[in-house]
Amino acid sequence: MARRRRIYEGKAKVLFEGPEPGTLVQYFKDDATAFNNQKRGTITGKGVLNNRISEFLMIKLGEIGVPTHFVRRLNMREQLIREVEIIPLEIVVRNVAAGSLCARLGLTEGAALPRSIVEYYYKSDELGDPLVAEEHVTAFGWATPQELDELLHLSLRINDFLTGLFMSIGIRLIDFKLEFGRLWQNDEMRIVLADEISPDNCRLWDIKTNEKMDKDRFRRDLGKVEEAYLEVARRLGILPDGGPGDLKGPAVMQ
Ligand code: UDP
Repeated sequence: MARRRRIYEGKAKVLFEGPEPGTLVQYFKDDATAFNNQKRGTITGKGVLNNRISEFLMIKLGEIGVPTHFVRRLNMREQLIREVEIIPLEIVVRNVAAGSLCARLGLTEGAALPRSIVEYYYKSDELGDPLVAEEHVTAFGWATPQELDELLHLSLRINDFLTGLFMSIGIRLIDFKLEFGRLWQNDEMRIVLADEISPDNCRLWDIKTNEKMDKDRFRRDLGKVEEAYLEVARRLGILPDGGPGDLKGPAVMQ
């Protein structure tokens, strides 16, 4: 097999050079990290499930007019995406108090928020992705004021859509993280949704039992991590053919 050029390796994914200019192959690993890399582990089959879950959600978002980097799934662990210039922000949308918001403001986990809250974090591993204000984003040129407007608008639309979609399968969307990129086509630039949407970067609670169905099971050693990801995929109706037995998937091509 021909060697592919590895463009970037992150905590949960690898990006390879794509088959055509302007494309990349996004490979989903089973590796999991938390607390700024201090906790590391493996969630067997996570890469296969996140590939499917993210594909499903990006296609659905595309259908309501949210532009995304997703082109098509290639195999169990890989998808073809458009190469974009990543905007160095992690955009977190929150509907219910959880995680760092509780720690920062002394809120009780599970408390309803008066309205959805959008936060910006500057993407920097060295700095541990600090929370920043819109002022920082525009002053340091990470995004222009017009781009920031667009990012906010898209994030809230995505939140409304995903909240309804998950609610229809008995899951409460507590919060999630998004990343966007600039896609250049001829002389025009569009902002598109990038990265992934999966239980790795969403908090998902069962509506009836409040049971966590996301990466918090790994972060907090709650057990049944694989089962939770599998259950999200099952409820979305996208379990890979053959079910859990197939979850190992092909090994990464070097
Ligand atoms: N999140 C993420 N990557 C990060 C930080 C947060 O995907 O580097 C997601 C996380 O899974 C949750 C939401 O963003 O769904 C809000 O996370 P929070 O700020 O509460 O931080 P955490 O408690 O995860 O450290």
